[in-house]
Amino acid sequence: MENNEVLQDGVWSALEKRGVSRRRFLKFCSVMAGTLALPMGYTSRIVQALEQTKRPSLVWLEFQDCAGNTESALRASHPGFAEIVLDLLSWNYHETVMAPSGKAAEKSLADTVSLEKGKYLVVVEGSIPTADNGIYCTIGGRSALDIAKEVCGNAYATIALGTCATFGGIPAARGGITGAVGVDKAIPGLRLINLSGCPANGANLAATLVHYLTFKELPATDNLKRPLFAHGERIHDLCPRRAHYDAGQFAMDWGDEGHRNGWCLYKMGCKGPNTNYNCAKIQYNDGTNWPIGVGHGCVGCAQPAFWDTMTPFYRTLPSLPNIGVETSAETFGVGFIGAVAGLTAVHAVGSVIRNQIKKRNDDNSLPITSQRAEAPESNE
Ligand code: SF4
Repeated sequence: MENNEVLQDGVWSALEKRGVSRRRFLKFCSVMAGTLALPMGYTSRIVQALEQTKRPSLVWLEFQDCAGNTESALRASHPGFAEIVLDLLSWNYHETVMAPSGKAAEKSLADTVSLEKGKYLVVVEGSIPTADNGIYCTIGGRSALDIAKEVCGNAYATIALGTCATFGGIPAARGGITGAVGVDKAIPGLRLINLSGCPANGANLAATLVHYLTFKELPATDNLKRPLFAHGERIHDLCPRRAHYDAGQFAMDWGDEGHRNGWCLYKMGCKGPNTNYNCAKIQYNDGTNWPIGVGHGCVGCAQPAFWDTMTPFYRTLPSLPNIGVETSAETFGVGFIGAVAGLTAVHAVGSVIRNQIKKRNDDNSLPITSQRAEAPESNE
């Protein structure tokens, strides 16, 4: 990581030293306000917080994973995850991108846990195997479960990133032998936020970190501990093809007239009606595009047990009684995927965020969330 001189500075100061322009910084803050579903008036508050805040330490653990969330995060823009977001925190440990290896790397982790107890943040990528005493994933001779208990247990908060870390993901699919589970199930009781998705969107991670740095707490969540700003609405409700769904215009095969004309992909197996995620708003790969944008239906990757409940990917969801007219997709969605018991009350999202902001304005303090707690002092 950078030297201590940088750690003494606020985020903006550190960014300035890296050559990030003021204009780019302000644009980043404004996009973060938008991603967090905050009114644009909050941009100045984010700017102020990032100018003044000291960078907290972050530890990034990888267990049963493909490093796809790391890849996604490093490719996120809105603008410049690598350029800006990496400087929001002092990254003390990240197996995929850190320079040290072996004992030197493990010392960085041990030092953070012991010297910054209760202050640092943890990102966990990948599921945690619990079968056979966790032998299916060991690092430095210790099981993932053992490491996670110690590192997450001593952190201020843990961010489970990606569907493997949140709900077990593909390693937890039917037939798996490792007893893979998400962080919440492996270590109940943590102060935890779930950023699901396969991979999770780096812009949502950035927004979660910015929220923490600005308001000194984690964002409000749904009953699956996913932040409402990212998972509070269904893809179906945000989808640019929704008008075609309502009009009964469906692509029936790859490359047919409906597909070429951008019609609804419901009959091609799209799981958007059952999936709560903000893909349509922030997109992937530098905000370039997203699955439905390139003509492929949503596969429901952000939902619990998605591999078992959303496959076959090209199987059409159960018939709607009133298909082709304005229909509540929650109605059939819940029936199709019983495992998705935590389907968020979609239309409550706006009011939750509005109430949260009203609370901030009322007491000029902090919003109420399910995880309200005083944030620790950062590195000073
Ligand atoms: S079914 Fe899929 S493609 Fe059609 S409107 Fe809903 S989310 Fe969009």
